[in-house]
Formats: sequence, C-alpha cells, structure tokens
Amino acid sequence: MSVVRPPSLTALTALREKLSARLPIRGTGKPGGGDPRSASTNPEGPEQSPVEAASLAGRGQAHTAQARGVRTLGGNLETVLLPRRAADAHDVVIAVEFCGLCHSDVHAARGEWGGRALPLVPGHEIVGRVVAVGSEVSLHAVGDRVGVGCLVASCRECDECRAGREMFCEVGSVGTYGAWDRFHDERTQGGYSTSVVVAEDFVLRIPEALDPAAAAPLLCAGITTYSPLRSAGVGPGSRVAVAGLGGLGHLAVKIAVAMGAEVSVFTTSPSKVDAALALGASDVVLSRDPEAMKAQTRHFDVIIDAIAAAHDLNALLRCLRPTGRLVQVGLPPAEDGAAQGGAGDTVAPVDSTLLVRNGLSLHGSKIGGIPETQEMLDFCAEHGVATDIEMVTAHELDAAWERMVAGDVKYRFVLDAATLTD
Ligand SMILES: [Zn+2]
Ligand SMILES: [Zn+2]
Repeated sequence: MSVVRPPSLTALTALREKLSARLPIRGTGKPGGGDPRSASTNPEGPEQSPVEAASLAGRGQAHTAQARGVRTLGGNLETVLLPRRAADAHDVVIAVEFCGLCHSDVHAARGEWGGRALPLVPGHEIVGRVVAVGSEVSLHAVGDRVGVGCLVASCRECDECRAGREMFCEVGSVGTYGAWDRFHDERTQGGYSTSVVVAEDFVLRIPEALDPAAAAPLLCAGITTYSPLRSAGVGPGSRVAVAGLGGLGHLAVKIAVAMGAEVSVFTTSPSKVDAALALGASDVVLSRDPEAMKAQTRHFDVIIDAIAAAHDLNALLRCLRPTGRLVQVGLPPAEDGAAQGGAGDTVAPVDSTLLVRNGLSLHGSKIGGIPETQEMLDFCAEHGVATDIEMVTAHELDAAWERMVAGDVKYRFVLDAATLTD
C-alpha cells in the first residue's frame, strides 16, 4: 500500500499559533448547541439579488447567501436568507457547488439530538470553489476547489488540537452548523447554502482528480470510516468486515478494499448481496443466519460497525480473531441510545469474557482531524475511491431526507447547490 503523507503538522501548528493570537475569543457562549444568544444575528440578511450577493462574496464582503433550512425543529426545509460575514484576514469565502446529505442533518433538524437555535441550515459535506481570501490566507487561493467537513474551528492550542485531533478539542470544537462560533460571535450555518466563510486552516484541498460531487460525502462519511481503518493499520492481508451497508458502510468497503484488505459485508438484507459484491467485497454474510455467522468465528482483524441502531455486539465480537478490534461508527438518534424504541433494554450487554479471553478491543471512532481528513482526500484521489451518489435539487431535499431515513438511497444524496437560487 502506498503511504500518503499528511500535510505538515508543524506548518499547520505554526499557522494556528499565529491565528489564535489574532483571533481572541470574543464571545462567552459555550461551544456546540445551547448558546442563549441564538438569535443574535438577523436570520434574514438584507435583500440582495443572487448576482449582487455573489459579487460581494467574490470581494470578500458581507453578503446574503441563499440557503435551505428549518424554522421549526421537525419542520420542512424552507428558503432562508443567510447573512455571511465579511472575510477576516484568515478566512476563505467558498461558493458552494455541492453538499452531501448526512443522517446527522436530519437528526439535528428534527431535534433528535437536543434543542437547536433556529433557523438551522444543515450541511457539513461541502465542496466548492474559493472566490475570495482574507489578506493573510496562505493555504488556499481564489479558484481552488476546496471542502469543509464537520468542523470549522477549535482552540488550536490544546494537546488534541496540536496533535491534529480537533474533534476532541479540550475547549470544544465548533461544528459546521448549529454551533456557537466564539471566534466570530455568530451561530454557524451549514452547506445547504450558496456560500460559506471558513477559517483557512479548517478548509481542505479537494484534489482535481476527484469528482467534486462524489467527493462531498467523503468530508463526513469518508473520514468517519477512513480514520478507524487507518488507526487499525489495515493493509494488504488484513481481513475487514463492514456491518451495515449504508452511506458509511459503502465507503468503508471501498476504502478498505483500496487499502488492500480482504473485505466482507454483514447485512440483514439478502437484497444487498449483489450491491456489496459490486463495491468490492469478496464475501457477504447474512447476519440473521446463525450458521452463516458461526462460519465467521475468529475470522476478522477489524470490524467497522456502521449500524445506527441498538444491536448485539457479542455476535460481532465472536467474529474477531484474537486481538481483533470492533469499531463503532454509527450513532443512534439519541446519543445515549435510549431512543431506539426501547431496544436498549433487549440487547445483551457486552460479554467481557469474550473481550478478555481473546484480547479483543471495543473502539469508538468520531470523524477525524483536519490533517487526517486531508490525507483521506488525497488517498481517495490516488486510489479512485468515490462515493456512489444521487444528485438532488434544493426542491427535492425534503423528499431526499425521507428516503434517507428509510434507507432508500445508494448510497448518498448530494445537493446541487446551483439549484438553491432557482
Ligand atoms: Zn455527517
Ligand atoms: Zn483545542
């Protein structure tokens, strides 16, 4: 397997030191949700035509983006005029071309992960072109194709940030939407929008070899599956299983195959067998068939568990070789799992005897840091890994969300942002 080198962490750290010195924390709001000053910015910007707004954005000035968001939790997606700040010295202004639709968008907009300030414009799988840069931007230039994933800021100073694991920032990282951005005194709004303004060190380079629409979902689903495969040292000779074949699972299969592993898929649906094989899996295991599961005993080095519902982990643990690793990447609607129709009560607890007897590890994994996200994009470009997508217009978003919740998509919807102004 060829090794793709991440961008120099030292260079990024040096830039961040400069940046954090220039960007004093102006707000006192907590990171993430829950800031009481949720309506501190006018949710409807001044009236601007899309052409005027694009021109202002291209000059790095404050402008109004056309977006789709919810005005009530659980409501339909509606047009929202979104004020976007003028670029500061380290900001990049991006004209959004595509934005992937992630399950998290639906959970957030329906209040399934707690209250949110409204209106809420989701979207954290953003790809577009740079149209303006702040006076001190050095990582990106006008015309570059770039991306923004789940994070837009963090403290840049704690041990986690310095190690390139901004998602674990000790002070709290700032999510791409629905979070309080204490560096700019504003609530973040996502990529179902014609433009975004983001600090340069949270903006990724999208290699030109990647199809931009198919690259968008890599920024959340891609890094979520790449990171645990990479940290488990997956390569030629590894035996990997992927449980759950949805948006995350299909990328886990493609990435693990590209890393040189032998990959199996666990699914409850006989109808997914052909699709799994077409993605590069060499075997498909019907997980409701006890005999088929028994045949996999002590077989895998790593299992990526992308099932977003309560389920029996012991059945998967039994399929691991000694010292094997089971990694959870799926999140149920409520983060504590209690909202799964009470299923938490009926699923067997993890059998610690299994863990001890075979020296197994039970892991969790959460997206990935900025350097590793760049490494993943470069890896996907080099190995021709792309998301299988279905493009939707702004008018089709509600229907696409319904289909996504029903599992009726192969494998990721992507919004064509050009349709936001239709
Ligand atoms: Zn996501
Ligand atoms: Zn930090």
